[in-house]
Amino acid sequence: MPKRFDTISRFSMWECDKSIKRNKFVRFVELRIPIRACTLRCPYCYITHRGLFDTVVKPFKYPPEHIRRALALKRLGGPAIINMCAEGETLLSREVVELTRELLEEGHYIMIVTNGTLTGRFEELANLPKELTDRLFIKFSYHYLQLKEKGLLDIFFNNIRRMRDAGASFTLEVTPHDELTQYVDELNQRAIEELGAIPHFTVARDDRYSGRYLPLLTQMSRREYKDVWGRFNSPLFDFKFEIFEQPRREFCYAGDWCGVVEIATGTWRQCYYNASRPVDIFTDTETPIPFRAIGHNCMSPHCWNGHTWMGLGCIPDMNTPTYAEMRNRICRDGSEWLTPTFKELFSRRLKDSRQEYPLSKQFVTDLKVAPIAVAKKLFKFMCQ
Ligand code: SF4
Ligand code: SF4
Repeated sequence: MPKRFDTISRFSMWECDKSIKRNKFVRFVELRIPIRACTLRCPYCYITHRGLFDTVVKPFKYPPEHIRRALALKRLGGPAIINMCAEGETLLSREVVELTRELLEEGHYIMIVTNGTLTGRFEELANLPKELTDRLFIKFSYHYLQLKEKGLLDIFFNNIRRMRDAGASFTLEVTPHDELTQYVDELNQRAIEELGAIPHFTVARDDRYSGRYLPLLTQMSRREYKDVWGRFNSPLFDFKFEIFEQPRREFCYAGDWCGVVEIATGTWRQCYYNASRPVDIFTDTETPIPFRAIGHNCMSPHCWNGHTWMGLGCIPDMNTPTYAEMRNRICRDGSEWLTPTFKELFSRRLKDSRQEYPLSKQFVTDLKVAPIAVAKKLFKFMCQ
C-alpha cells in the first residue's frame, strides 16, 4: 500500500506559506510541453535539425487542474520554480495559459520560454491578477533574423512590454549562429531602443549529433566563437561557454531537488537523460513522488542547460553565477528586467532551503542509481 504524501511530507502548509513570503523555492521542475509546431522556422532550431516539426497542436492528455494536483505544493514539498518549455513554441497551446494560472494559484513560480509572437496569449497572461504575474517570468527568445524577415519585430517587443507592464519579469536571449554575426550591432541597438539594454547570449549546441558528443553550433573555432559572441557582458554566455563540453563529475541533486516532468506521459525523470526509470506521477496524484538524486551518475555529455540547473543549485558545491545575474539587465533609465521578487528568488540557491545529503546517503544513492546508469551508458555506447 503506497504511503500518502501528506503523512510523509516534511513541509507543512504553514512552511509552504513562509517559503512564498520569503521568495524561497524548494525544487526546480522542467515541465516539458508536448508541442513541436511553431510560428517561426529558425534554421538552427533543433526540431528543424531532427526533422521533427509538427503542424498540429494536440490537446493535453490531462487537463490543467489535474496537472496542478500532480504538482501540488505539498506534493513537491513547497513552492517550486517551474519552467514551461516545448520543443516548438510553448504558447501555441491554449492550455498553457490555463496551466500557468493553475500553477501560479497553487503558489509556484512559473517561467515560460517563448518566441514572443502570439499576442493573444500574452493578452491572456497579462490579464492575470497582479499577485500572480508577480510570480511569472518570461524568457523571450530573440530570433532576430526570423522576426525581421516576417515583419514581427514590433509585435515581439510590444508583447514584451505588455508583460513587463503587467508586472511579470522577463529576459531577452539570443541564440548565436553564424549567419547572425553581421547583424549583432543592429539587433543590440534595437533591443536598447525597445527595452533599454542589450540581450543576453546563450551558447548553441548542434543537435544533429547526439549521445556522447554535442558540439558548438558553428563553423568557427572555439576561440573565434568566444571572440564573436562573448563580447557583450553576458554572464549567461560566459558561464555556458565555460561548462560547454565539460562532463559533470560532482554529486548532482537532479532527481530530488530538480527534475523533468513530461506533460505528454505524466512522468517524472531525474534530468533530460534519466539514470532511473521514469515514474508515472499523474495517474495517481496522491502517491508521493519517489525523489532520488542522480548523484555521481550524470548521463549527459555535458550539462547543456547548466545555467538553469546549476545556476539554481542542483550541484551545491559548484561556484556559479546566480540565475539572477544570468537573466537580469539594468536598463538605461535604471529599471531592471527582473522585478524585486524574481531578483531575490533567482539570487537564491536550492541549498538555502534544502539539506545536503550526508556522505553515507550520497554513497547509498550512488549504489542504487549506478547499475541502471552503467547499463544505459553501455547500451548507448553499443548503439553508436
Ligand atoms: S522559435 Fe524556437 S521552436 Fe520555433 S523555430 Fe525558432 S528555435 Fe525552433
Ligand atoms: S549535471 Fe546537469 S545534466 Fe547532469 S544530471 Fe545534473 S543537471 Fe542533469
